[in-house]
Amino acid sequence: MNANLLILDRDGVINADSPDHIKSESEWKALPGSLGAISRANRAGYRVVILSNQSALGRGFMTIEDLNAIHQKLVLHLSQFGGNIEAFFFCPHKPDDNCTCRKPGTGLYRELAHRLGANVSGVPSIGDKLSDIEAAQAAGARPVLVRTGNGRDLEKSGKLPAGVPVHDDLRAAVEALLTESGARPGSDPAQY
Ligand SMILES: [Mg+2]
Ligand SMILES: [Zn+2]
Repeated sequence: MNANLLILDRDGVINADSPDHIKSESEWKALPGSLGAISRANRAGYRVVILSNQSALGRGFMTIEDLNAIHQKLVLHLSQFGGNIEAFFFCPHKPDDNCTCRKPGTGLYRELAHRLGANVSGVPSIGDKLSDIEAAQAAGARPVLVRTGNGRDLEKSGKLPAGVPVHDDLRAAVEALLTESGARPGSDPAQY
């Protein structure tokens, strides 16, 4: 089933990004409205999957235990909104490792497709960097940019491929998606 998948980048989309990487659960801070937006997408029938570059692993800035603790915190905070992440796929490599999974490579999309038995064709994929947009396009998914994280800079840079929709943040992007897919807009009782 394609129709109900929603792919998200993590840093700069769900939580604040940092030029120094997010390396520990104490550094992980949700962006306003992002967890409510994921929960809202879940309740409209979307299975939400995260695909993210986590080169802090390959650079030795954090361990897999640190990354697991970050994801546990994300899951815990999200659960307070009734939301759920179906799977986390991440690239642990450094840019010069020349792997195929680091976005803009499409390895994470292939891994998702393989492990979940899903087709990523046309699946909305929300990110904040050109590498997110390019990976989504190369994988046949449908890229969407948010202005949080690096998104506003990318929008201003003129490098964003034509036709990619841009929204202020994850909440706005999810609202647009649900409106388009026929869910009742604004039916969320709490506008977190
Ligand atoms: Mg990002
Ligand atoms: Zn990789």
